[in-house]
Amino acid sequence: RTVYLNGEYVPEEEAKISVFDRGFLFADAVYEVTAVVNGKLVDFAGHFARLARSCRELGLSLTLSENDLREIHQRLIAENDLTEGGIYLQLTRGNSGDRDFHFPPSQTPTTLVLFTQSRAVVDHPAASKGIRVVTCPDIRWQRRDIKTVQLLAPCLAKAWAEANGADDAFLVEDGFITEGSSCNCYIVTADKTIVTRPLSNNILHGITRKALLRLGEEHGITFEERLFTPEEARRASEVFISSATTFVWPVVSVDGQQIGDGKAGEITKLLRSIYLEMVE
Ligand code: PMP
Repeated sequence: RTVYLNGEYVPEEEAKISVFDRGFLFADAVYEVTAVVNGKLVDFAGHFARLARSCRELGLSLTLSENDLREIHQRLIAENDLTEGGIYLQLTRGNSGDRDFHFPPSQTPTTLVLFTQSRAVVDHPAASKGIRVVTCPDIRWQRRDIKTVQLLAPCLAKAWAEANGADDAFLVEDGFITEGSSCNCYIVTADKTIVTRPLSNNILHGITRKALLRLGEEHGITFEERLFTPEEARRASEVFISSATTFVWPVVSVDGQQIGDGKAGEITKLLRSIYLEMVE
């Protein structure tokens, strides 16, 4: 694989980062993952806008423009013959030359890394079969709207899910589901309303979520943004998730409780197909 590191396109074995890089020592870094389908980026403008916002919130300087970054993504797609999968981007506050909590001087160069990941997105088996989820406490920090690389809590949640025979975890705070370990969550009520948690600092502002709300409006599908509990999810007629790497996946059980008939729901399938239509 050819990867990008600070202006260079190099074989992955040759990409080296300092042990003093703040991304490594302090998780002082932000990231984005943009899906690729048919060799094309999905909603790059949305991912760039969120990256710029994450940087602003943390006082990280983003010196490359949207077009510069789009070109880097496109060159990596070409160099690696990527037709379907994703591109991971990480920007760190660079190298302090030592381990020091204080931010380095503002002119310190940041570290920018991008690499491609080839995988099925459109025909992923989980998209038709669905996933099983379990709930667990949301132990993350209070600025989940910033897309930082502090991902130990979601890693622990996924390990918890695996240990409990599930594919993923829904995180719970104050009795309500915040989001999934790496996705936004939705339930469908008996009157066919799609419920999802409103935006706040408590969840990541999903780019896929934003697109689904817009597409829903265009297609007369009703969304309601409000909090919901694990109990409501277990009793819902449908449950699903969204993210840039999954698009829309059905959830067929929550905490061992089967959802509906244990298969992908009609509204979930409809939303996925509308999303795929937009992508393709
Ligand atoms: N929430 C969390 C915690 C995530 O990690 C992700 C995946 N980036 C999402 C939601 C979904 O966001 P997006 O649709 O932008 O991938």
